[in-house]
Amino acid sequence: MERGVAVAAAGALACGCVLGAAIHERSQLPPLGPLPPAAAAASAPPPGPTDAEVEEDVCENNLIVSEPTGAHEVTIILLPGFTGSADTLLPWFKRIEECGVSLENVRVVATTAPKRRITCYDGWRANAWFDYIDEQFDKEDIIDEAQLAQSRQAATKLVSTEVEKLGGDQSKVLLLGFSQGGNMAYDVALSYPSQLGGLIARRTSLRNESDLGSHKGLPILHFHGEEDDSIGCNRGKAGVARLQAAGFTNCKLHTEPGLNHTEFSEKEMGMYAEFVLSLFPQLKQELPSELKGFCYCGAVHYSVRGGACGVPACFCHCESCRRSHAAPLYQVCYVPVEDFTITAGSEHIKAHKFRHFCGECGSKIFNEVAGPQGPRRGFFPSTLEEATQHKLPGRFRPTFHNLSNEAVLHDLPKDATPLAGVLITGSNGNRVKQETKNCNARTKKLQRRAP
Ligand SMILES: [Zn+2]
Ligand SMILES: [Zn+2]
Repeated sequence: MERGVAVAAAGALACGCVLGAAIHERSQLPPLGPLPPAAAAASAPPPGPTDAEVEEDVCENNLIVSEPTGAHEVTIILLPGFTGSADTLLPWFKRIEECGVSLENVRVVATTAPKRRITCYDGWRANAWFDYIDEQFDKEDIIDEAQLAQSRQAATKLVSTEVEKLGGDQSKVLLLGFSQGGNMAYDVALSYPSQLGGLIARRTSLRNESDLGSHKGLPILHFHGEEDDSIGCNRGKAGVARLQAAGFTNCKLHTEPGLNHTEFSEKEMGMYAEFVLSLFPQLKQELPSELKGFCYCGAVHYSVRGGACGVPACFCHCESCRRSHAAPLYQVCYVPVEDFTITAGSEHIKAHKFRHFCGECGSKIFNEVAGPQGPRRGFFPSTLEEATQHKLPGRFRPTFHNLSNEAVLHDLPKDATPLAGVLITGSNGNRVKQETKNCNARTKKLQRRAP
């Protein structure tokens, strides 16, 4: 019951309804007049979710799973950071397929931390593995250690469930944690009864409370931006140094100059791909150096240099695209203009605004748009050669929905992120929304710190 009230209040905050939050706060106030000690204790703010509720959230309610399309050989578990959620971390991670990792035999499990009251944000409720009593930048935050232990228990259960699904082989489970979720990933992997397959610690730190345990051969990759503005890079380095000093022999640190806490990094994704393939070489997917496609009547043929590797695909739902393609949504992949070539039938190409199509059969061939990184051409993976078309490579599985606010479909495929109102202008078009969201959280944090 208490929890229901809390969730409603969080919703009120999310839509900017200050009044709703005020009513909620007032409901926590003790009645007037002096109170006997027992009554005073009972009127204290709710202690937060119970162990059972945390476990239920982490292991069931908040799970988003990307199932393998082939046999289940590996599980990768994703733990998002403070205020983050599974539905943004999962599509981000799936971009690893652009770097030559096939997820065909991988179960990717993303969860979200439960909602908690955050002390240093005046009781604001947010997805959090543990409360920040005081949030720090270049030294350890002051946290609620009991809640860290509570989340450890829940996340460990999540790992155990996956180990069971893999016939009890814990070496087939890889844990990836971002930011506060990275604090958890370190903590859980180091304290797990047996050594897991590996750990990716993304822009995070190893907390002092975390016991190092005895899995000294655990493969660990720690990645940190040198301009990280939430968890100082020095904290990431200190944790890795502590592990190495304790005899962890397989712990690597990589820092990237100029990178902050939330910016997308292709280099980072490439390093994760390399790390995953070093643990599970069978996931390697050979990427073609060239793709070929053609229109409905076969008069026009095209080729995409570089195989569109490292380029995300998306669904677009906007009215203009729906009309021109006569479809409820369409799939597009934008590459640098010089990578897309018409190899036959260019005399048949007609154009209307930025859309180019075959003048004989009307098939759409490409879009041409200006982008921050120069002009780009968008091709449509569903017109690739038949051999490819019957089973599109995983890297063309769209990772986001463009203009999902205009969607006519009621149920959007869940493994892509809905981005309302964001136009694609280049290969990194999907970063705009995420950064906006994270910037808002950061601004909020700074405002609350202001005297
Ligand atoms: Zn044609
Ligand atoms: Zn569109």
